[in-house]
Amino acid sequence: MIKIDGHTHTELCPHGTGEKTSLMIERAIRLGFTEYHLTEHAPLPVGFLANYAGDPENVKTASLSWDQLDDYFALGRRLQRKYHDRIKITVGFEVDYLEDYEEDIRAFLQKVAPQTANNIISVHYLKNSAGGYYGIDYSPAELKAGFGDELTDVQQLYQRYFRAVLASVQADWGAKAIAKIGHMSLIKKYQDYFGLPTDFSQINMNLVGQILEVAQQKKLKLDFNSAGLYKPYCNDLYPGRQIIAQARQLGIPFEFGSDAHGVSEVGRGYHLFEYLDKN
Ligand SMILES: [Zn+2]
Ligand SMILES: [Zn+2]
Repeated sequence: MIKIDGHTHTELCPHGTGEKTSLMIERAIRLGFTEYHLTEHAPLPVGFLANYAGDPENVKTASLSWDQLDDYFALGRRLQRKYHDRIKITVGFEVDYLEDYEEDIRAFLQKVAPQTANNIISVHYLKNSAGGYYGIDYSPAELKAGFGDELTDVQQLYQRYFRAVLASVQADWGAKAIAKIGHMSLIKKYQDYFGLPTDFSQINMNLVGQILEVAQQKKLKLDFNSAGLYKPYCNDLYPGRQIIAQARQLGIPFEFGSDAHGVSEVGRGYHLFEYLDKN
């Protein structure tokens, strides 16, 4: 049986625990995983920093730096060699979708595509109505600083998020550059902090429908991401009940991802993923 943890970070992640990636993989092996996808945060486009308006600490720690790329590939190769007879390891990236930076993202993906697999496209930053970028998953304070006006009518913010996700899947990144859409409801990470409604409106579910249609055409998978369950103010899976139901209707495949940044997070919540097969 194939058992995949398809979304994991490494000891090189600046906001991770710093725990050894080898120990993370050994936990995956103990839990019976047969495949492990390294999907480290790709470096952010250089020009993006100038238009970023949130907490500087966020972007400083968000991703690998450009000069860490060689170390990351070397780490991946070392781990593949070490564990080749126990678990299949692939090396790829979780790439940020950023409106206005499609060219940079495409250039990066074209460069790394030949030596990567199972890359994820994710939205962690949105541009607000004043044109500044803010992180949506860094802190409640940053979300409020960027989108405070929309938090009072949160379906607007959800709409802003899904429009970005739609653009991220519609863009042409090149053949097989992207395999999966990351945590497609990350905008709800602080839902219980702000007391937000847990359901997406019909307008937003229509946007979800458009995203899933493109996903289907491009044969993208969806990240069944358990990390949100363990976030103090999310308490739900990504992408949540409504999107899971709609994607299943269309037959779009899910892939489990713990989004682990440390040893104890590897494989966390996997049994919930099995419910998909049993219901
Ligand atoms: Zn991370
Ligand atoms: Zn992510």
